[in-house]
Amino acid sequence: AFDASPATAWQNAQALIGQSVADIDTPALVVDLDAMERNLAHMAAYARAHGVRLRPHAKMHKSADLARLQMAHGAVGVCVQKTDEALILARAGVTDIYISNEVIALPKLQRLAQAVRSLPDTRFAIAVDSAAGVLRLAQALEAAGVGGEGRIDVFVEVDVGQGRCGVPPGEPAVDLARLIAQHPVLRFGGLQAYHGGAQHRRDPAERAKAIGEAAWAAALTRERLQAAGFTVPLITGAGTGTFALETSSRVWGELQVGSYLFMDADYARNESAPLAPVFEHALFIKAQVMSRSAQHAVCDAGHKSHAVDSGLPAVWSPAGLVFANGGDEHGILRAAHAGHPLPSLGDTVWLVPGHCDPTVNLHNLMLGVRGGLTEGTVERLFRVDARGALG
Ligand code: PLP
Ligand code: MN
Repeated sequence: AFDASPATAWQNAQALIGQSVADIDTPALVVDLDAMERNLAHMAAYARAHGVRLRPHAKMHKSADLARLQMAHGAVGVCVQKTDEALILARAGVTDIYISNEVIALPKLQRLAQAVRSLPDTRFAIAVDSAAGVLRLAQALEAAGVGGEGRIDVFVEVDVGQGRCGVPPGEPAVDLARLIAQHPVLRFGGLQAYHGGAQHRRDPAERAKAIGEAAWAAALTRERLQAAGFTVPLITGAGTGTFALETSSRVWGELQVGSYLFMDADYARNESAPLAPVFEHALFIKAQVMSRSAQHAVCDAGHKSHAVDSGLPAVWSPAGLVFANGGDEHGILRAAHAGHPLPSLGDTVWLVPGHCDPTVNLHNLMLGVRGGLTEGTVERLFRVDARGALG
């Protein structure tokens, strides 16, 4: 009987290791390992050269192997956005995990507390922006019998301009730091200061302005904390669009960049800033032309292969094609200029997803290809371990 379960799909994909990229069935999520490793090395070298800690955001790839690879290349640990991402990566052996997000639900905090207790060699950290967040965390740790001092780092999130989570800059962070200090099992780790809204502003001057304001808000908050007698061990934040700005401000001591590893079509639409390193596309959808008319070709990749929140995919190859919405399992390919040839039935099409994070979350696995998308071979697989971990 035919079996298309994830376990069988994994086994089938394993049989591709050592085979040609031409043998990959479509649609498939493919990682160009050479490009990814250059991105990996580039960011690691940047962080080292500028004396800033690197803690990449693993919400982007949700893969324990990739998290470990980043740590082997100088990352101090990884960030995640969800409790269950943290637990899945921790159980898969990732040893330093920061939930850069607020967690309020007691069952989630109980799961986290169990992990803190049962994995004494794994470092966990979490963000808070409310007294309830601190109290519930402390309560869950206590109920799980987690003793000792400073077992989990707690970062107070400041809204530095995004208008999402976080307390307003200044005094409110001091109140939360006081509350954290009342619970010895918690350690005040410093400030979470991430400006997501700045990442995708196309104009580098606008990104610089937003991060300038964020730096001011973070520095002000640190001053208030110091005036109240607190040491602020770290200010953490930054994404792929702005990390050079956070770094040069000297306010941040840690970068949470995620997308740099794969890069997506939306990030490629940013005008690059002077002196900032440039990253390559390393994440692709391999698709195939399954229908042709005189006006267009249709490929087998639609919204179920790639996220569309940040725009439709860019067509990487063949050149001269534009991707148009064909629904959840179809992509319509049209010539960018009149007279440009269309691909034929059966031809391979390589797409660059608009947004890497939610695209990866649509797949169970990624196929790592060595030697390029034309001549290369499948070298290794990456499981999307925390796929669908929304809790
Ligand atoms: N830090 C936080 C809190 C985020 O929400 C994100 C992404 O949205 C990042 C870091 C990483 O951003 P990027 O993938 O743009 O590098
Ligand atoms: Mn993203």
